[in-house]
Amino acid sequence: MFSCVSMHMNVKDLLSERTNYMKASDIRELLKWATADVISFGGGLPDLSQLPLNEYSEVAKFVVSNYGLKALQYGKTEGVDELKEELAKFMAKQGIRTDASLILPTVGSQEALELMARVFIDPGDVIITEKPTYFAALQAFRVYRARIIGVDMDNDGLIIDKLEDTIKRLRSEGARVKFIYTIPICQNPTGVMMSIDRRKALLELASRYDLMILEDNPYSYFTFDPVDTTPLKALDNEDRVVYTSTFSKIIAPGIRLGWVVANQDIVNWLAIAKQAMNLHTPTLSQYIAYELLRRGIVDRYISKIKETYKVKRDAMLDALSRYMPSGVSWTKPSGGMFIWVTVPGNVRTEDMLNLAIRKYKVAYVPGKSFYPDEDVHNDMRLNFTYPSVDQIYDGVRRLALAIEEYKGK
Ligand code: PMP
Repeated sequence: MFSCVSMHMNVKDLLSERTNYMKASDIRELLKWATADVISFGGGLPDLSQLPLNEYSEVAKFVVSNYGLKALQYGKTEGVDELKEELAKFMAKQGIRTDASLILPTVGSQEALELMARVFIDPGDVIITEKPTYFAALQAFRVYRARIIGVDMDNDGLIIDKLEDTIKRLRSEGARVKFIYTIPICQNPTGVMMSIDRRKALLELASRYDLMILEDNPYSYFTFDPVDTTPLKALDNEDRVVYTSTFSKIIAPGIRLGWVVANQDIVNWLAIAKQAMNLHTPTLSQYIAYELLRRGIVDRYISKIKETYKVKRDAMLDALSRYMPSGVSWTKPSGGMFIWVTVPGNVRTEDMLNLAIRKYKVAYVPGKSFYPDEDVHNDMRLNFTYPSVDQIYDGVRRLALAIEEYKGK
């Protein structure tokens, strides 16, 4: 018989210094309280109710029986060639001309963000981002102790004059700017689209100051108005843009499959970094995505989901104008998944969330976490893709009541 001596390891004393720069998402923590009767505008979840599940299961079965062990064996870090060829064709429809050899499949585009920081960032190196920007990109960059500098946006996206001033200031301080991280099309969290003139100006600026750009593009597949969704990568004649996109919103997030396009040197470095992280992106996911692309299932799904999301976007905009108290403003996105709401005055949306969830049964993401310095408190991100149209109207009405009560305090 073994005797059981209970000895507790002191994990805290064992942690690396790096963990000081790892922060659990406030969002996940806060949204944990959201019970079933809470209408959530909080997550960034796509609506999966219209997934062509029959086609997906047919494809999954076909992949296992047709590609057999190839789809189940270890694969190359560089990814499945058939998928990369198909991705090159898929991106060509958006004007991106690239060769399969310059594509690296990743475990979602989140891995691409992580790999870019891992390969390029030493402590103190600068990454310039939009302000606000995607929270989990900040999370990934912070682990490598990047100095993250946010630049203001307006309704046409990143303000290029301010960006130039920032670059000049950083250069004069001797800072090393490693890359500019941007989500030009239907940004997360604001939904804002960078104007095509600004996209060109950004590339021109990058050329003038010899800078690299990391373009994150999960949302350009579903826009609802006649807008120009040309990615920076399609306009990039100097190979300055590292491009990442994902199947999370156009196949399903659970497939955990994204990709990067970059020049050969960068792809090679990302692949070396990736080897140590996870050897390769799941082969099974890659073959399934290949078949879904090849059979036109992805394109058909995009057309369908676009209709659904347009109705939901319109419903949320309508509900906001019906119910929000005066002074509250919001963005009018042409696509993507989010609307950004700004409440005037001395409001802290992170404090208001408690009231919103507990009393009014509605959840959102407080704006603070999307700012590199967490120094702005009066806005919030609302997701319009996951809730139903009825929930959107009811939830926005309740949110308006929460704002009124909180401001009346
Ligand atoms: N970048 C942005 C801007 C996103 O909004 C998301 C997902 N919400 C991601 C990257 C990560 O997506 P995934 O890892 O699922 O591809």
